[in-house]
Amino acid sequence: MKKVYLAKDRVDADLLKELLADAGIRASAQDELVFSLYPIPAFYPTVWVHDEDYAAARAIAGEFERSQNSPPATATWTCPKCGERVEGRFKECWKCDAEVKESEETVALARRGVMLFVAVVAVLLVVFLLARSNRPPMPPRDAPPPILRR
Ligand SMILES: [Zn+2]
Repeated sequence: MKKVYLAKDRVDADLLKELLADAGIRASAQDELVFSLYPIPAFYPTVWVHDEDYAAARAIAGEFERSQNSPPATATWTCPKCGERVEGRFKECWKCDAEVKESEETVALARRGVMLFVAVVAVLLVVFLLARSNRPPMPPRDAPPPILRR
């Protein structure tokens, strides 16, 4: 057996294992149990293959590593002015300089948040007022002082 890959985590190891299986290479992941107990680099899961599969497995693992290291695909937005697709990390359209608009969904979510906040405050206010009105009435201020007995 030869070690072909040092995984970041269990999912990472399983992904490569599946890729290798698709290519007809049997692989096993080691240290998964230890890693789940001590998630530190020394115990990162490793993927192992039989010696005769190493070269092919290494090529697949290399490809896998490159795909892992490439920046995650960000959502794109459509320029409202010229209709161009723009990558999510850009705030302006590269073609016509129009700025990205907040999606209606985001605005709707924010509006819902404000309404929820107002509702909570209103409920708290009602509870507060009810609690106050339930208090026993105070004696009138100009009432004579209670008679003290000796
Ligand atoms: Zn544009």
